Amino acid sequence: MSLLDRLRGRGRRVTAQRRVIAEVLDGKHVHLTADEILRRARRRMPEISLATVYNTVNALVALGEVQPVDVGGRVRYDPNVGAAHHHLVCLTCGTVRDVYPRGRLSLPKGERGGYRLVGQDVVFKGYCPRCAGAQARGRPGHTWRP
Ligand SMILES: [Zn+2]
Ligand SMILES: [Zn+2]
Repeated sequence: MSLLDRLRGRGRRVTAQRRVIAEVLDGKHVHLTADEILRRARRRMPEISLATVYNTVNALVALGEVQPVDVGGRVRYDPNVGAAHHHLVCLTCGTVRDVYPRGRLSLPKGERGGYRLVGQDVVFKGYCPRCAGAQARGRPGHTWRP
């Protein structure tokens, strides 16, 4: 189900801004920064501002419809809130995939320091097939500096 259908199905208020941002955040393996959301949202709503993007995304986060994830030092917004998952990031192009590792990762009591645990987000790192192929052919990806 798309994020927009989910919002409508749950009786959430769908403003024009929410509709545009829900459309931008639709699909699988979607993890966009606020700037990326702004760029894509402007194709549909040229007057939308970064402040509106933040306000709208934060409202969707507060409703539990989108979750912020910190991957590679940047906050990205993830519409996949239905299934607990972790992330696999390409160190060259920054593409992020949702992954579902086998087995459960647990933190022994002695390691918790008295914290009440509420979640976990493991980031697996590597090179996506496209970037790994470019490296093998001697063409560095755009973030690589000799
Ligand atoms: Zn890549
Ligand atoms: Zn995700």
